[in-house]
Amino acid sequence: MESSLRYLLLSDIHSNLEALEACLELAQGKYDQALCLGDLVGYGPDPNAVIEKIRPLASVIIRGNHDKACSGDPIAADFNPLARLATEWTRKELTPEHFAFLRSLPAGPVRLESFLIVHGSPFDEDDYILGPVQAFPLLRNPETPIVCFGHTHHQGGFMISPQARFQSIRIPSTKDGLILTFPLQEEGRYLINPGSIGQPRDGDWRAAFAIIDPGKRTVEYFRTTYPLPKTQEKMRKAGLPPLLIQRLEHGR
Ligand code: ZN
Repeated sequence: MESSLRYLLLSDIHSNLEALEACLELAQGKYDQALCLGDLVGYGPDPNAVIEKIRPLASVIIRGNHDKACSGDPIAADFNPLARLATEWTRKELTPEHFAFLRSLPAGPVRLESFLIVHGSPFDEDDYILGPVQAFPLLRNPETPIVCFGHTHHQGGFMISPQARFQSIRIPSTKDGLILTFPLQEEGRYLINPGSIGQPRDGDWRAAFAIIDPGKRTVEYFRTTYPLPKTQEKMRKAGLPPLLIQRLEHGR
């Protein structure tokens, strides 16, 4: 029988403490368990503080490609020069304890009740689920009717309806707070992306997260502003690349 736990989905935090704090404040009292879909670090100025916040909070944390790269794995070939610079900066900044913690994180997928959490895709944490080409084969897998993923930094996801229609889950760009409550129909299949907390790339700079309630069969998508200039100032002081600092305000 399905329990009625509500799960907070936190993904792609990328060392952005201000964005994480704003999300946690908005989510307070609305969930029972927190899950982290990876990329705690990389790009932003606060890797240690973000790990300190997430570690006691989340009951399950899987690693993302940046967590892997920042804790000693060779930097992947698809990392662009800016991502490389930020990775090298993060490696130097991490305390030995946090470095070891990141290194110890399991790769997804991890199953919870009726759904999976993954960073990229169920088959490869480095894969991007960007559109129907990648989403359709995954949605057709009968063993995984609901998969929660991150990595693309696009809030929303994809679905096949009980009538077998493929659809993108589109998120309206409304005011801060709960912006969409999305029903998960019994016979439907879903790929759910809570969006990125620390570096959204869907054209909306605000921090994104979601709460899934498998008992009530809903996903709630949230968006919130945060003190962005403070984060950018920290990045400047840390000497992180200007392009990474600017992209935060464009949500790209
Ligand atoms: Zn990421």
